[in-house]
Amino acid sequence: RSGRAAALRARMEERLLGARFRYLNQQLYTGSSRDAERLFRADPAAFHLYHRGFERQVRRWPERPVQRIVRYLRRRPASLVVADFGCGDCTLAASVKNQVHCFDLVPLSPRVTVCDMAKVPLAAESVDVAVFCLALMGTNLQEILGEASRVLKLGGTLLVAEVASRFEDIRAFLRAMMQLGFRTVSKDLSSSYFYVLEFAKTGPARPGPAPGLRLRPCLYKRR
Ligand code: SAH
Repeated sequence: RSGRAAALRARMEERLLGARFRYLNQQLYTGSSRDAERLFRADPAAFHLYHRGFERQVRRWPERPVQRIVRYLRRRPASLVVADFGCGDCTLAASVKNQVHCFDLVPLSPRVTVCDMAKVPLAAESVDVAVFCLALMGTNLQEILGEASRVLKLGGTLLVAEVASRFEDIRAFLRAMMQLGFRTVSKDLSSSYFYVLEFAKTGPARPGPAPGLRLRPCLYKRR
């Protein structure tokens, strides 16, 4: 009897965590990066809950996107300096020899520099590779990618791994990236879970709006 009660209780707790995760996730995708910063600063426990939910989601996938970034970096010189925007638990930094600057809102690891990714404490043109792995979350995408452009050296690489269903119009997105000063080097659209896009910084962003730069929020279904 008490075994059944415990099982029921565990199931209720799971449900509640699931609901809380989906709610937090929705807030992250529908607010600006500054709203996200405020949210997690006010409630660090929410961040840990969010990350548990995130881990559970990604474990269902056949491959973790961050592993693709790891493989990419291992093929290139270890001397390249990397910035990981929205680094989570710093799997990337832990898996490569490169110097990796890790940025996130709350430190899941001592390697993390806590900041809003729209404003990272790096000098202009100081990194070779900027990474957004499932991390393009705020509604102020243009500002966030502008920050990546600022810290990237000319000719530097921008890697984006994002949930496939977030792209409304991939061609419009790539055109907008061009406006932001990023040339598409390669795009891997083969996975139905996530896309991996590689860009090179060709110069500063052209001023003005980039309307194609839109991603749908990634809202997880109740399971
Ligand atoms: N890149 C990691 C984690 C992805 S989850 C991986 O692939 O495993 C997305 C991460 O982006 C979360 O850790 C979240 O806290 C972070 N994030 C979201 N908005 C952010 C912001 N405005 N500034 C910094 N990090 C942010």
